[in-house]
Amino acid sequence: MRFARLRLNGFKSFVDPTDLVIHDGLTGVVGPNGCGKSNLLEALRWVMGENRPTAMRGAGMEDVIFAGSGGRGARAFAEVALSIDNSERLAPSGFNEADQLEVVRRITRDAGSAYRVNGREVRARDVQMLFADASTGAHSPALVRQGQISELINAKPRARRRILEEAAGISGLYQRRHEAELR
Ligand code: ATP
Ligand code: MG
Repeated sequence: MRFARLRLNGFKSFVDPTDLVIHDGLTGVVGPNGCGKSNLLEALRWVMGENRPTAMRGAGMEDVIFAGSGGRGARAFAEVALSIDNSERLAPSGFNEADQLEVVRRITRDAGSAYRVNGREVRARDVQMLFADASTGAHSPALVRQGQISELINAKPRARRRILEEAAGISGLYQRRHEAELR
């Protein structure tokens, strides 16, 4: 699975609809301080099911909605859409019916988050599973925040093992086993 496109609308500083095509290979995001580079990576993590407002540098999840600035009023919702090239058909079963997957997360101030995959309404958990199996995901070790390397070095063995399991793409299996045991 390869990220092909990221679209933002009302997410943090991206008040106007923004469409980013992600090409093969290395992508660099450059710009002056405060222009929204980190917000872009947060959008990527958010659409993959991140549910901790602190990981979005906010107090509540609705803080990702454009709050108004430069004479422009606050928005009522934020939406991020991630298009994934699935032509190699590596998506987990249940999501593996198309060459192109589009995952959309939308949040409104009153109603919280809703997710869709190729237009079909799904649960947050389904989206988290989709990316857990592909060893990407909101908690993916592929997304390295500032200070995270020293966190890894200082982590307790159990926490470090969780990171390695996520990298190996087996954390989705553990979640499924846990749920099966609860049934
Ligand atoms: P640096 O180079 O300093 O790391 P950056 O390019 O990573 O900067 P970001 O941290 O992504 O910048 O963007 C910060 C900007 O986003 C700030 O100007 C902040 O006011 C704005 N911002 C964050 N959340 C919102 C929001 N909900 N509504 C409007 N603007 C927001
Ligand atoms: Mg930054």
